[in-house]
Amino acid sequence: KTLKQGGTFVVEPRRLSKASAELRARGFGEITIPPSTETAEKQASRCTDCGVPFCQNACPLQNNIPDWLRLSAENEPREAWRVASLTSTMPEICGRICPQDRLCEGGCTLNQSGWDAVTIGSVEAWLGDQAFANGWVEPIRPAAERGESVGIVGAGPAGLAAADRLRSEGYQVTVYDRHDRAGGLLIYGIPGFKLEKHVVQRRVDRLIDGGVQFVLGCEVGKDVTLLELRERHDVVLLAMGVYQPRILSAPGRGPDSTVAALSYLTHQNRRDLGDAEQDGWHEARGKRVVVIGGGDTAMDCVRTAIRQGAASVTCLYRRDRENMPGSAREVVNAEEEGVVFEWLGAPKALLSQGDTVTGVRAARMQLTEAAPGERRDIVPVPGADFDIPADIVIEALGFSPEPFAAHEPDLRLRDDGTIKVGSVSFATSLPGVFAAGDAVRGASLVVWAVREGQDAAAEIDRYLKTRTEEVAA
Ligand code: FAD
Ligand code: SF4
Repeated sequence: KTLKQGGTFVVEPRRLSKASAELRARGFGEITIPPSTETAEKQASRCTDCGVPFCQNACPLQNNIPDWLRLSAENEPREAWRVASLTSTMPEICGRICPQDRLCEGGCTLNQSGWDAVTIGSVEAWLGDQAFANGWVEPIRPAAERGESVGIVGAGPAGLAAADRLRSEGYQVTVYDRHDRAGGLLIYGIPGFKLEKHVVQRRVDRLIDGGVQFVLGCEVGKDVTLLELRERHDVVLLAMGVYQPRILSAPGRGPDSTVAALSYLTHQNRRDLGDAEQDGWHEARGKRVVVIGGGDTAMDCVRTAIRQGAASVTCLYRRDRENMPGSAREVVNAEEEGVVFEWLGAPKALLSQGDTVTGVRAARMQLTEAAPGERRDIVPVPGADFDIPADIVIEALGFSPEPFAAHEPDLRLRDDGTIKVGSVSFATSLPGVFAAGDAVRGASLVVWAVREGQDAAAEIDRYLKTRTEEVAA
C-alpha cells in the first residue's frame, strides 16, 4: 500500500472529487462525488497504520478509524461498517459534514508529515452509503423490552443519537419536536449541497421502524410543559439546541431590513423537500446579497444565494481569513462558486431608501499586534469606511439559547443561558432530567451532539437501572 523508494515513502495521491463550481451553482445536490469502490479502497489504503492513532484522538467520537480504513482497504466493507457503527449512530452523516480538516484528517499522521491526509470522512460516508444500499444497516430490535419510558425534547442529532441507543436497550422512547419533520439542523439548517435530506430521513425511518415514537409539531413550553413530560416519562432528555439569533446592532437596522440566516436556510431546505412556497420566503434571484458573519451558517447562506441565482454575493467579516470560525474548506468552496469575501470589514450601518435596504456601510478593520499568548485584536482604520450595495442583507452572527429553559425556575443555567449538567452524568438540577447537545455546549458541531446524545443515553440507562435496583432492594 505504501512504497519506499530511496528512503522516502511514496504514497497514493489523495483523491476527493467534487462537482465543478459551475455545475454546483445550478442545484442543491451534494457537491462531493461519491468515490467508486476502487477509489474508496485505494484511499483507505493510504493509511500507514502509523500505530499512534492521532486521527482517532482528534475525532470527538473516538472512532476506530485505522481499523475501518484497513478493513475497507482489504475489501471488507461490511465488517468495516460494523466497526464504524460501534462508536457512532450516524457515521454517514458525520463523514459528510464534519470539518475533517480540524478533526480526524487534521490529526492524520500523513497530514502532519507533509503528505495529504487520508480522506477519512469520504471513506466513512461511502461505507454508510454502501451499508444502506446493501441492507447491512441493522434494524433496532431490542433483546428485551423495558417498561421505563424516556421523553426526548428535540429531534436533532443529539436527540436522535440518544433515541437510537436508548431504544436499542429496550426503553420506550418518545421524541418531541416543534418542527413538522425530525432532524433538527440536519434537516432545516444545513443545506442539501452539504447533506442531502434523504440521508437524514433514512436514519429517522430506521428509528421509527425500531419503535421510537415521534410527536412532531409539539413545542415543549407551549403545547406541553416540561412538568407534564416529567409526569409522563421516567426520564426527560433536553436536546433542543440553541436558536435565538444574535442581532446586528447598527444604525438603520429596522425590524424588516435584514433576513435571519436560519429562516433563509430553512425556506430553501423546505423548497428542496417539496413544500409549497409560502409568503415571506426569501429568495435571492437577481438580487445583490450581503451576508454578515464568518461561521458555518454564513458560508451556507452565501452558497445558497449563489445557487438561487443572486446577481452578486458578498460575505462581510470583521476579522481576517485566518481568524474566521467557519471551516476553511467551506471558504474555498464558496470562493470557487463566486462569493466575494470582504475580510476585515465590520458592519457600521444599514443604508436604505424609505423602507428598502440599499446597502451596508462597513468600517475597514486592521489587526493589532498581539500581547504574548493572546489573540490579535482588531481596530478600525480611520477614514477607510466603505459601502457595499445590497438588496438583501442576511445576518449570520451566531445563536444563543432560547428563553425556554429560563422559564423553568429550578433548572440551573450557565450565564450564557446554556443548561448546566454534571460533566459526566449529563444530569441537570431537576431530578430525572438530563440534557445534551448544543443546549448544553452552545452552538457546536453535529459530531459533538452525537457524542453527547450517545453518552447521555448511557448515563440515563445507568440511572434507570440503578433506580430499579434500589426499588427492588
Ligand atoms: P439541533 O440540531 O438544533 O436540534 C434541536 C431540535 O430541538 C430542533 O429540531 C428544534 O426544532 C427542537 N426544539 C427546540 N426547542 C424546542 C421546544 N421547546 N420544543 C420542542 N422541540 C424543540 N455542524 C457540523 O458539524 N457541520 C456543519 O457543516 C454544520 N453546519 C451548520 C450549518 C448551520 C446553518 C447551522 C445553524 C449549524 C451547523 N452546524 C454544523 C452545527 C450543528 O448543526 C449543530 O451543532 C447540531 O445540529 C446540534 O445538534 P442538537 O441536536 O443539539 O440541536
Ligand atoms: Fe472524522 Fe467526524 Fe468521522 Fe470522527 S466522526 S472520523 S471527526 S468525519
